[in-house]
Amino acid sequence: DTPSYYEFIDSHQIEKRYRPIKPHAHKGTQGHALIIGGSYGKIGAVCLSAKAALKSGCGLVTAYLPKCGYEIIQSSFPEAMALTDGDEHITKIGFELQPKAVGLGPGIGQHPETQQAIHDFLKLATVPMVIDADALNILSYNKEWLEHLPENSILTPHPKELERLLGKWDNDFDKLEKAKAFSTQYKLVIVAKDAHTFIVNGNSVYINSTGNAALATGGTGDVLTGIITGLLAQGYVAADAAVLGVYLHGLTADIAVTETGHQAFTASDVINYLGKAYLKIE
Ligand code: AMP
Ligand code: MG
Repeated sequence: DTPSYYEFIDSHQIEKRYRPIKPHAHKGTQGHALIIGGSYGKIGAVCLSAKAALKSGCGLVTAYLPKCGYEIIQSSFPEAMALTDGDEHITKIGFELQPKAVGLGPGIGQHPETQQAIHDFLKLATVPMVIDADALNILSYNKEWLEHLPENSILTPHPKELERLLGKWDNDFDKLEKAKAFSTQYKLVIVAKDAHTFIVNGNSVYINSTGNAALATGGTGDVLTGIITGLLAQGYVAADAAVLGVYLHGLTADIAVTETGHQAFTASDVINYLGKAYLKIE
């Protein structure tokens, strides 16, 4: 048994992990992120997530979404490439790309055909993944599928999703112990999102210091999934991608509120302020 390790993530801890873009970088060296998600009425989630992945600094992003979202994403986010399957929900996940990382779940829904598609995809998956939203819920109902997740993968539950994953906890200490046991058992990094997000990697726990209640608005979780997937695609190991992604995500809100106020801040503002957040950690 390795003893527990706790780290408070402030600007010094980020300095150790952050790697600036090299002058000779090109889109091929910056990593290709694939975001899989969306269903009728929830195409925005995959648009936000894909945009956040690209804004995190990866070289290329492809969105895999149902046909009903094709024109929406192509016109609202022209930098993204798009692949489609199914009319209103995803029915099969197949592609010939070789992404460096996959983000799975934003807006994906829980249609039985989508659940089967996720199962079949996970059985063949080899690159690190970020699992969020309904993909996470589907895995909570079918925990044996977690065994298929490639090493270096990350789960990003909000409190309700975390409870589905771990079961009910008695208190904060118990919650942390359950999360460490789960992370160790499945060899996955858990990003337990909340007002004070913590990241669990086996027996190591990282407590984030950025963010505020402006983030309590629809779509900010989808944006976080995109940011962390984009960092994974750039070659960060899972725990570093999670720690850096959560820190930057919170920092956008800390910077923005002096201009937008708390109430008017939206998930798109996380994306808009990502550049300023990067400038602050450089
Ligand atoms: P989701 O519920 O999946 O949309 O994710 C919401 C995101 O916003 C997570 O990254 C949370 O950590 C963050 N968030 C929500 N409420 C707060 C809050 N009051 N303070 C700081 N971060 C928050
Ligand atoms: Mg969410």
